[in-house]
Amino acid sequence: MLMAALCSPLSAAEKVQSPEAPGKARNVILFIGDGLGINMLSAARAYSVGADGRLQMEQLPHMALAHTCAEDKAVTDSASSASSLATGFKVPYRSLNIRGNGNRPALISELAHKSGRSVGIVTNTRLTDATPAAFYGDTKNRYNEVELVPQLVESHFDVILGGGLAWFLPKTTPPGIREDGQDYLAKARVKGWAILQTRDDLKKSEQLPAGSRLLGVFTTDDMSYVDERKGRPAEPPLTEMTLAAIHRLSKNPKGYFLMVEGGMIDKAEHKNWALRSIMETLEFDQTIGAVLREAGKDTLVIVTADHETGGFALSGSPPLSSHGNELLARQPDQGFLMGWTSGPGALQKQSVDFLDPNFRQPAAHYTSSALHTANDVFVAATGPGSEDVHGFFDNTEIFRIMKRALGL
Ligand SMILES: [Zn+2]
Repeated sequence: MLMAALCSPLSAAEKVQSPEAPGKARNVILFIGDGLGINMLSAARAYSVGADGRLQMEQLPHMALAHTCAEDKAVTDSASSASSLATGFKVPYRSLNIRGNGNRPALISELAHKSGRSVGIVTNTRLTDATPAAFYGDTKNRYNEVELVPQLVESHFDVILGGGLAWFLPKTTPPGIREDGQDYLAKARVKGWAILQTRDDLKKSEQLPAGSRLLGVFTTDDMSYVDERKGRPAEPPLTEMTLAAIHRLSKNPKGYFLMVEGGMIDKAEHKNWALRSIMETLEFDQTIGAVLREAGKDTLVIVTADHETGGFALSGSPPLSSHGNELLARQPDQGFLMGWTSGPGALQKQSVDFLDPNFRQPAAHYTSSALHTANDVFVAATGPGSEDVHGFFDNTEIFRIMKRALGL
């Protein structure tokens, strides 16, 4: 009865069915744009639909600004910030879900699982990177990634899709890097996970019976940037992974919790690659648009960022009609319109081709990797419980909004 075949996508009647839990929302989808500051959103908007247009995520009806500081630092990293979203508590810089006092609070994914819902994670970084790890694991130091893999394999998740195969395999099995000789891909198979390694595997996973648990590890390390993926057809794009996850999770009539990370935005920002940062932001936005068309009315969708990276800005006075590559070109009177506060772009020779995705826009001061900033981040939402998303609040409030909406 529980697993009575619900076809996917859900029919209109199923979409409006009341959730069985007392909360208002049957499902929650949390989108995290890693490093996606409001300033990058403005630039991606100008680049794609013009400065007076609107991205898909900008069409959500409710909005707030969230403070992002860590328990011990004014400027957060992804581990501390994702932990705030996952637990509702601040944790120290680089910690995953372990507070300064040593406590390890319950995760939203654990609470959702206990209520009978299915749970999932989708990212285009490696699965042991800070943001995805905050939703299944804990460690005082996010860089202990080999420690996180066993936690992932032992977790109660129904769908986990991303990159980072090297962390699952022993050194003796390329591309493995594990020193402990353990093969966690083999262990995951024993635990009943269906292992997916290509875009084709992901497509075929739609045929797997209800109750199958999917572990997709599609690349050795982080997945590719949008512009690199053209030559790598075996890698599924973020949108495909997300829709496949929703189709799988929505087979559970009790509902689901899903976290989707656009994780490569931050990676490009750390290098001062404005074009790549924009392309990644646009793919993230396209994924949100696809989900909004697919998710039922009983789904709370929240979009936010964990922090801003690089102190980016689109500046100057380009004409309103400017969009696309015009915004990347050097202007005769104003130089480059896009620039950063910190990062390796401070040493860039500006004669190189500005349309090359590897071109670094100028930064005001040199750091080998652009720094995170204290800038507040946007929170946008739609669906049951989204009316709580307004005003200024701390990012820990997002956990409470999701928990309340799920009736937990
Ligand atoms: Zn970062």
